[in-house]
Amino acid sequence: MPQDDRIIQNEFGKIFERAKHSNWTCIEYGCKDAAINSHLLQRNGILNYVAEDGKVVMPCIKSIFGYKDSESLIEFKKIGLKEALSLDVFCSQHDTNLFKEIEGGCIDYDNYRHCALFCYRSLCAEIRMKEIEIEKYKLLLNSDILNDNISYGKMMILAQQEAMMEIGKMENEQYRYWLYEDLHNHTESFVFKAFDIPIKGLFASAASSMFMTEKEYKSPDLMDLLLIQIIPQKENSRIMFGYHKQHANKNYEPYIEKWRNVKKEDIGFMLTGMLIQLLHWGMAPSLFIKLLPHNIEKYYSLCIEDYLSQNQYPDESFNLFEGIF
Ligand SMILES: [Zn+2]
Repeated sequence: MPQDDRIIQNEFGKIFERAKHSNWTCIEYGCKDAAINSHLLQRNGILNYVAEDGKVVMPCIKSIFGYKDSESLIEFKKIGLKEALSLDVFCSQHDTNLFKEIEGGCIDYDNYRHCALFCYRSLCAEIRMKEIEIEKYKLLLNSDILNDNISYGKMMILAQQEAMMEIGKMENEQYRYWLYEDLHNHTESFVFKAFDIPIKGLFASAASSMFMTEKEYKSPDLMDLLLIQIIPQKENSRIMFGYHKQHANKNYEPYIEKWRNVKKEDIGFMLTGMLIQLLHWGMAPSLFIKLLPHNIEKYYSLCIEDYLSQNQYPDESFNLFEGIF
């Protein structure tokens, strides 16, 4: 590695660590206590069906500086559960008390409150992840070392990415607030639907702008978000969707119904179409080794296409899990 690259990589590493561990406070409204490491999915139970030797495989975006044109911007990485799914989100008291009802995977999917709590926790984690990213961008943009060693054009890309992240965070904040209101006022402003699907070894947790068109992307209105969770169970998985009644894209209902009635031979295609749009998903290492190398390459290139596109219709013509499901 040339000397300059090494200096840049070192600075990146330092900044990433600093952003992740800068003194985050509890995300719950009005709480100023220090945040502790909270799990995105419940600590007990749920992840045991995916993790092997404490590890999962997840897609990760490489930094634009480590990335050469000949290789992919995204790669699957085997990571420890702690690194993969825990973040400083809530203080110890809120982490324990807010989610008592659903801790240990005891979720009654017919119970509105349980579904709202599950999605609330996941949205809070998503917001904190974005806050950490924003902090990272701020530190990168203010770094003398990077400003001296990196082109103006690349620094501008970072500034754009920071702005995008800020917008995404604001969107998530609005949905989180509505969920909070529901939890405290016994209102039901969301629709939740959940059912079992015959797959194993995979999890996902995301607030997705699926079905968004280029026109909607450019409009100043609040984006429609579909909350998606894939929760691994012992013999199969549960897929849960949530959307706000006043911000429901017209495609959500038919899409959810398509999942409810999914045929076994279509499941891999539908799953791939969905996962291309989500970054927060992962799988068991033993599932990952069954994926065919040319399918992994194709998944990488479709992810990049999707990342650059403002048209978010799921492409269900390709099955990353060919031969598996
Ligand atoms: Zn707190």
